[in-house]
Amino acid sequence: MQPNTFTDNNFDLSDLIATNQFGSFFGVSQSAFDNVWKNLTDPAGNSVVYISMEIGADPDVFHPIKQKLMDLEKTDSKNKHIKSHIKKLFHGPEKIPCYGGGLGVLAGDTLKSYADCHIPVVAVSLLYRQGYFSQIVDSKLGQISQTVAWRPEETPSLYLLKDPNNPDQPLQIQIPFFNEYDHETIASAQVWMKMEVNHSLDFFIPELLLDFSLADNPTPIIDAAGKLYNSESSVIKATQRRMLGTGILPVLEALGITSQTLHLNEQHGVVVALQLIAEELLHELNHSDFTLASNEQIEKAAETVAKKLVFTIHTPVKAGHDRFNKSVYAGISHKSCRHILELLANDNESPHSYNFTTLAMRVNRTANSVSRLHRDVTHKQFPEFADKITAITNGVHHLTWISDARAELFDSFQELKNWRHDPGVLKNAAALKDNSRFRTYLLRAWEVDSAILIDYVNGMLLEHRNEMASTWIDPPNHYSNLIDNSNRLSPNVFTVGFARRFSTYKRADLIFDNTDTLCKIATNNNWPINFLFSGKAHPADEPGKSVIKLILDYQKELHDKSNGLINLIFIPNYDMYIAKMMVAGVHVWLNNPKRPLEASGTSGMKAALNGVPNLSIMDGWWVEGYHEGLTGWKFGHEGPVDEADLSESPDTLLYAEDSASFYQTLPAVLEEFYESKSKTAFLDKAIMNLCLNVPIFNTHRMAAEYLHKYDLKLPQAQQERMDDFAKLYNSNA
Ligand SMILES: *Cc1c(COP(=O)(O)O)cnc(C)c1O
Repeated sequence: MQPNTFTDNNFDLSDLIATNQFGSFFGVSQSAFDNVWKNLTDPAGNSVVYISMEIGADPDVFHPIKQKLMDLEKTDSKNKHIKSHIKKLFHGPEKIPCYGGGLGVLAGDTLKSYADCHIPVVAVSLLYRQGYFSQIVDSKLGQISQTVAWRPEETPSLYLLKDPNNPDQPLQIQIPFFNEYDHETIASAQVWMKMEVNHSLDFFIPELLLDFSLADNPTPIIDAAGKLYNSESSVIKATQRRMLGTGILPVLEALGITSQTLHLNEQHGVVVALQLIAEELLHELNHSDFTLASNEQIEKAAETVAKKLVFTIHTPVKAGHDRFNKSVYAGISHKSCRHILELLANDNESPHSYNFTTLAMRVNRTANSVSRLHRDVTHKQFPEFADKITAITNGVHHLTWISDARAELFDSFQELKNWRHDPGVLKNAAALKDNSRFRTYLLRAWEVDSAILIDYVNGMLLEHRNEMASTWIDPPNHYSNLIDNSNRLSPNVFTVGFARRFSTYKRADLIFDNTDTLCKIATNNNWPINFLFSGKAHPADEPGKSVIKLILDYQKELHDKSNGLINLIFIPNYDMYIAKMMVAGVHVWLNNPKRPLEASGTSGMKAALNGVPNLSIMDGWWVEGYHEGLTGWKFGHEGPVDEADLSESPDTLLYAEDSASFYQTLPAVLEEFYESKSKTAFLDKAIMNLCLNVPIFNTHRMAAEYLHKYDLKLPQAQQERMDDFAKLYNSNA
């Protein structure tokens, strides 16, 4: 990028261009860039590497650089040039489809808070040229997965790092892979960088995305590099995990990054622990072959390496934990690793498998779960490690998830003024509870967001109807067949949102278990209800896909049985953009997993940050965010959790019991909504969510709690600011 001479309003776009030996980057000043780089390359290693299989941080929901330029354009009408700069700089797609769900979005939100709080962190993940998948939904066929058409080269927020020794060429790292005869093949990766720039544009977190889809790479590598969570074979899956785990140290070395703490966001990247142990053994044994290392030597090396690692476990669900047949993993790694794996990655259930969660649990200095209930469950699942497993409840990035209309409201009240820097100030919303101007504006903001959401859905329904004629897709909504100009969803109708991955334990179809009862609740009282559902099932998850199909099949039945009062709509291709619109625009956010399988859940927090009450099973974060009569509603099975509750088999999913509890709870919710035009009870709950839940369930507070695990030496003022966030809550209480 050429330095820009455009200057106006004391703001010079060239102030946002930074250059170093790896390229030129747009978004922060040279001095801010140099500061970030200096931290990461500090010989004392006072920084953290955050390792995640997926990162969800789409610029179409949070893009402070673009926002800054658009604000400038708005405030200065002479600034005609800015529009063309926005066009030039942000000309391409604003989605980076390298995330599958909550884990990736959490990673993105976490990194954004680290950027806001100036914490020296660098992230490493993979770049998937075929993304996750894009979802088409057909009413007869259900989910159809399509490859995402996406090119990083055309994505303005991504930079391909240059080789400093050969600036015409991209930087490449080389990683040895092996076959079953221990023959070495070399896989290369180029490195893309996304800068997670903070809202003041004075700090960023580099995300280093390793791209193994290079034409010269061995075929098995290319096969494994394309799609996130490709599970076509266990070899592909294991190869993908090894790409992440073995890519970390070489990329850090190539960039001169010195971090001494590595944070594993889930166990997917745990192969880095094997690399570190191997390095340690080479160093200790002082010769290149460490296959002869004794058990004691390996255990001692693992203890040393453990001091560098922080591990977050995200789910009690089995599919979330990688276990590989020994021959599969041995078939891609160096033989010397087998001895280490035999010792440290034993699988309790199968002598023929390596268990990567066990490895991650064993080799770390501290491990944490993502909510209090999840901590208790994890203690039961891993009794031998219980002592070191604490809870750090997840959060969401408030600047990403609070809608524009709500943000404008917060901006306009002195009591909340500093909310962008400190989400904790939302506790002051309590003092505004009886302020009629605040209540009026809050209701108005909610109505604005509902209108945006319902307009989007009506537009989508119409579009599907039009497409019906031109494609073979049967629209995924019965309602598409019904609409004419007078028949549209109304934003004044009570609207329930449900959106997340379609895994069977999340029980998307729970509340339709008894459609008679549900429809009677509507017809007896003439209460119309919109149910808006969205979410993808992993392409290989047949039971998950069949739940999507069930949702589609309920649409007509619900409509007919309720005399048109109930409309169940499915929004295809769930992503962060749809999520943001939904969490702010609905009246209630529904969450009905089988307790205790939802370790945390974060979409409900996004709703709560907008003041939208949750209606949820007592699982994950809701055990902590629910305050009776104040923040929302609970339903379903509660009580102590034991080993048997961890079952995911269909006959243990408690459909009858939990749906009956839902039907008992729902009428009170509807009554509150429809009883008063001024929505008194709903506004009370919205305000209680703002003051009780925003200060806690945000990633600034979460980052502050992780800092205790990282043990970084931050400047005193910064440390104090973080301590203030941490004081707001103790997840591990
Ligand atoms: C927040 C979010 C999720 C996670 O939702 P859960 O309630 O934690 O399951 C998944 N996908 C997208 C696109 C999200 O924004």
